[in-house]
Amino acid sequence: PRKKLTLDPTQECTPNKGHSDRIRVYVRIRPISKKEKEVGARCCVKAANGKEIYLTEMALESDYLRLKRLKGRYFIFDGAFPENTNQEEVYRTSTEQLVEAVLEGKNSSVFCYGATGAGKTFTMLGTMKDPGVMVLALKDLFAKLKQRSSEGEHSVRLSYLEVYNETVRDLLSPGRALVLREDLKQGIVAAGLTQYKACSADEVMALLQQGNQNRTTEPTRLNETSSRSHAILQIFVEYSARVGVSLVSRTGKLSLIDLAGSERAIATDQRTLRSLEGANINRSLLALSSCISALVEGKKHIPFRNSKLTQLLKDSLGGSCQTAMIANISPSNMSFGETQNTLYWADRAKEIRTKGCVTNEEIQVPESGCEQLQLLLEVQKENHQ
Ligand code: ADP
Ligand code: MG
Repeated sequence: PRKKLTLDPTQECTPNKGHSDRIRVYVRIRPISKKEKEVGARCCVKAANGKEIYLTEMALESDYLRLKRLKGRYFIFDGAFPENTNQEEVYRTSTEQLVEAVLEGKNSSVFCYGATGAGKTFTMLGTMKDPGVMVLALKDLFAKLKQRSSEGEHSVRLSYLEVYNETVRDLLSPGRALVLREDLKQGIVAAGLTQYKACSADEVMALLQQGNQNRTTEPTRLNETSSRSHAILQIFVEYSARVGVSLVSRTGKLSLIDLAGSERAIATDQRTLRSLEGANINRSLLALSSCISALVEGKKHIPFRNSKLTQLLKDSLGGSCQTAMIANISPSNMSFGETQNTLYWADRAKEIRTKGCVTNEEIQVPESGCEQLQLLLEVQKENHQ
């Protein structure tokens, strides 16, 4: 008989180098689009030295023909990707180390944040020709598992879900709205969500493209797909191996999140925040900014329960998890306001500390020799009587 020895993930906390961990924040500038060029847009933002972002405010000169540069601002992040950065580079810098962590039985998340049209879906999902972080992470995960195949058994399952208008839906098996509930071991889970068993990255790309087709688009703005829906891909990696006489099993979860466009929901001051709340605009994004503020200010109570998205992101923002944020921005001076807003929140998010990563590990050991001896003695005693 085997005795089950469960390590409570909240107890077995091994913080990074003795300190709590920080959310890593990256900024990606997308190339200027044809449409932006046609209307005479100019670049108002520049990435330099791998980590720096320069934002310049511009104004029309009095003759209305030329743009002049007004004041500028400088930001520093964990990474700054200029327009020509390819998908592979974005993946390697922001996400690869998190895939490694998931293989070790840790939880990690990456989320893309920014205005509609800034490049979030391109970064996360990408195209068939130019796959993004979601697909590159799965490809890399399968490659890494192949290298470790002699070490033990692995299985990969995935779920793809959407939060739209405070309703959670399964993107792989569309239908009824799903209910969120708290699971002691896994945190917040969507009850009844499909878990798809994945064997190769290629089949996954088709699956995710299909899932993305199922994302809700705004009826009033048909040309703007998914600008108010948040898509979350969850990848679960299970590992089990025999170490001596014990059976070791680990589960890691990687969440990859494509957030809704932040332009109509994020306010940097309290007054605008209240008026937006009154208008009931994307409650999830508003709640996200409130949670970020509360976390940065070190508040005791973080209002995760205020929306579906923040409930689902609870363990990414405040839990024992490694998290990366990719802020997407357009280079155009016509998107200056949105870019400024995105950089403001990205800059704040840098201050968020998570509790450091824990390993979700379970070890089953055979009953000890001592207990077996005890049992033997008891049997002998019984026989005697
Ligand atoms: P969002 O999801 O933030 O609304 P998208 O990812 O849909 O924005 O990007 C808007 C458009 O810009 C799309 O046509 C997309 O293909 C293109 N685009 C975005 N980022 C890049 C990039 N880094 N390189 C090339 N094209 C991009
Ligand atoms: Mg999108």
